[in-house]
Amino acid sequence: MHEQSAVQTIIETLKTTNPKKAKIKLGMMRGEKSRILDIFKNQVQDTPLEQIKLEIEQTPVTSRCQCGFEGTVDIPGHVHFIRCPKCSKIIDPLTGNELEITTEE
Ligand SMILES: [Zn+2]
Repeated sequence: MHEQSAVQTIIETLKTTNPKKAKIKLGMMRGEKSRILDIFKNQVQDTPLEQIKLEIEQTPVTSRCQCGFEGTVDIPGHVHFIRCPKCSKIIDPLTGNELEITTEE
């Protein structure tokens, strides 16, 4: 599952640093903020990681295409690739694939 792997990455990082607080920049393509928080809560229950405050900043998917399209791309759920909303060509995302974890002591 998509979100599962993002949560796994977050947990692995937090385990090694064990911070009080963590800020996460989460691209839409990685999963939805509320789902990530739910899964995280479930997985860290009754572990020391339970105490960590997670702050998630969700970033939208943006891209540009040869046809002239440039902007935000709405994605239906979780996808591995995106299509241009104008000409349906498969395009690379400029943003939306981030998973950046910043921890605070
Ligand atoms: Zn296009």
